[in-house]
Amino acid sequence: MSQKLSLKLIQEDCVKRKLKLTPPREKVISYLINETESRTAYQILEYLQQSDPSTKPPTVYRALDFLCLNGFAHRIESSNSFIACDLEGEKHMAQFFICQSCNQVTEFHSHKLSKILEEEAANFQFSIQQEILEAKGVCKSCRK
Ligand SMILES: [Zn+2]
Ligand SMILES: [Zn+2]
Repeated sequence: MSQKLSLKLIQEDCVKRKLKLTPPREKVISYLINETESRTAYQILEYLQQSDPSTKPPTVYRALDFLCLNGFAHRIESSNSFIACDLEGEKHMAQFFICQSCNQVTEFHSHKLSKILEEEAANFQFSIQQEILEAKGVCKSCRK
């Protein structure tokens, strides 16, 4: 498994790209970085409320929008949850292996897969705006 983004890398990236890493955004991404499973917005809200009980859902949603839009986190569509990106910055298409036994999410990037999808789309004169690829199964540690 590749190394997840560290908070330090994200902070540096935000300075470089002139993005504002507000305290809630920073708290949300730190939380996601430390988790191997994806987390729902509700779980993130509960976590933030531990340190600040007045945290409201829109704060969490706004932070998640920012993190996903800037490529620091991804949304797992099939479980409506979020995970920290495995790669450094930049918006990119991500594909996921999701273990149905331990819920670990592994991010991978196959240009080959994206290319095939583009070719198929071209056949249908379809223009892809968002690519979602999630494969469910059993991870290496759960297969032992
Ligand atoms: Zn990613
Ligand atoms: Zn597993």
